[in-house]
Amino acid sequence: MTATSDQIKNWLDNYAVLIRRNAADLTELDRLIGDADHGANMQRGMERVQKLNAGDFADSAALLKRAGMTMVSAVGGSSGPLYGTFFIRMATAIAGNEDENHVVDAATFGKALRDGADGIAARGKAQLGDKTMLDVWYPALDAYDAAVAEGKELHECLVAASEAADAAAEATIPMIAHKGRASYLGNRSAGVKDPGAASSALLLQAAVETFGA
Ligand code: ADP
Ligand code: MG
Ligand code: MG
Repeated sequence: MTATSDQIKNWLDNYAVLIRRNAADLTELDRLIGDADHGANMQRGMERVQKLNAGDFADSAALLKRAGMTMVSAVGGSSGPLYGTFFIRMATAIAGNEDENHVVDAATFGKALRDGADGIAARGKAQLGDKTMLDVWYPALDAYDAAVAEGKELHECLVAASEAADAAAEATIPMIAHKGRASYLGNRSAGVKDPGAASSALLLQAAVETFGA
């Protein structure tokens, strides 16, 4: 199983649906340790991304780039530039690595996800353990890469990543935030799951749903 540009659009659309369904929960997490807007921010951004037409883009790289720019412009909060950078870096990694049918394989998709996560790290200057979305991305991508190394196909790699992401999101609960608004709370940021970690795990859940077995 591989990823085509239509499937990439389906992935973004499925993510928009998951965000809408979980927006209240994401905002509640952010109410507890932030400013109560993460669900609304992500919903506003992904609804704009959902309105993009896959047919208007030459390939999945062009689509992902526009999706990233849309997140940056539609979302005022820090999640806009962070998810925006993620998708734009993914686009750069995929560009030129699609075959003549605009298909990307599991290793290429994994490299694109990792470049995206590195983009979040560069933009937000957070490190592992700072209680941010990065605390989901890196463990998830390590699980993904291990599956690639075992010769697994895209769907199985994504299942491994998604399972690791869910566990990693839970593991942010006891952490103390060192970046973002939650860091203003100091020790009182412990005891609540990081909202961006939760929304990042949903992006991988959407990928599992999209890139079928
Ligand atoms: P804002 O905090 O501006 O209201 P959101 O509520 O939409 O933006 O997003 C908050 C999430 O963004 C956090 O839960 C965290 O995962 C992520 N985040 C915030 N700052 C950083 C950072 N410097 N690096 C990585 N992720 C960050
Ligand atoms: Mg917020
Ligand atoms: Mg905000």
